Amino acid sequence: MTEPNLTQPETQDQPANPFRNLRELVDYVSGRALPILTAEEGRVTESIPFPFLGIVGQHEMKLALLLGLINPNIGGILLIGPRGTAKTTAVRSLLGLLPQVVRSTCFYGCTPEDIEIGGLDAVCPDCAKKYGEGKPLTAPDKVRLIELPLNARLDDVVGTIDERAALHERMRVRRGILAQADLNLLYIDEINLLSDDIVDSILDASAQGSYTVRRGPVVASYRSRFVLIGSMNPEEGRLRPQILDRFGLRVIVRGLENIEERLEAYRRVQAYLSNPRQMIGQFTDEMEAAAAEIRIARERVRKVAIPDRVANPAIELVQRMGIDSLRAEITWFESARAYTAADGREEVEISDLAEVAPMALRLRRSHFMNEYFKGQIGEEKELSTLLDSFRKPRPRKKATRKK
Ligand SMILES: [Zn+2]
Repeated sequence: MTEPNLTQPETQDQPANPFRNLRELVDYVSGRALPILTAEEGRVTESIPFPFLGIVGQHEMKLALLLGLINPNIGGILLIGPRGTAKTTAVRSLLGLLPQVVRSTCFYGCTPEDIEIGGLDAVCPDCAKKYGEGKPLTAPDKVRLIELPLNARLDDVVGTIDERAALHERMRVRRGILAQADLNLLYIDEINLLSDDIVDSILDASAQGSYTVRRGPVVASYRSRFVLIGSMNPEEGRLRPQILDRFGLRVIVRGLENIEERLEAYRRVQAYLSNPRQMIGQFTDEMEAAAAEIRIARERVRKVAIPDRVANPAIELVQRMGIDSLRAEITWFESARAYTAADGREEVEISDLAEVAPMALRLRRSHFMNEYFKGQIGEEKELSTLLDSFRKPRPRKKATRKK
């Protein structure tokens, strides 16, 4: 019999093995958070995650996460559902699919753009020297998954000033989790349990793609372009409506309803527990193919356009739903562009918009936000009726002529 493989080699970036025992491994797989996090910084999770494609069912959740990888402009993804519905597993399983980006090689995050904007003083002395010698300040690197610890303080998130440290402004600020999250995925489990000031600072940075730390005379700005993924269990506390609105896509994650699916999910978890490498090996080819598709779609999405004949009726639908927030159509269009790119095309069709509409448009109206799930079923039905007529071209009204 093969022993479950609970040990993994430590790497420079990863301080500790996330599994200390089998119970934690089981919890990990069942989608529960493992709070072995330091308050110092978000943990970079680089273990051997459950293969993304091995997750049974949960079509919408998987689609939303993939769209987020393809087009970071969709503005974040919120997974809403009870415990044990594979939310955390799904997010961590993205590790096998993450594309590459070009990022700063410096601890302080200095980039050539900093120099273009602010001159050599805008970067640390090491980088200023490198730049002068014509050496690169950036290198290709994998997108990472940064998890925000639930016990994070505001200083951990935005960074703090080191009063004793030296001279150079950039070196006086201890980088926070938001700076580490630049060009990465930032995952916040149980976002509804975080304090308001932390959530606000994260959402502001997410919207602007940067943030500034001010402490007395010291001011430092950081890039913070990340795909925000939040998850929450509505039974454990509500999320302020204005926060809900700021997530691009909202996915309602329910338990698997089909008995066969549940059994298959159980079997895969069993296989993963008893021999994770072998289980993952069964999905390697597909995972590599999916990762390649994502890379191609990320390039293609820049070229994808939405013609007026498609955009106009979509905006009309948003208005008919009584949604005021402009974020509705921004998110809807951006996710449809990602969907179209994933399908290998460069022009968004009505059917692309219809496919991603529920994720982008649900829980947008203020009275629904206040009521959360209460109105959810009615809204889904209404939305699907509207989408039915949206898919079909509208019959033209016959001109009525008087004799
Ligand atoms: Zn530097």
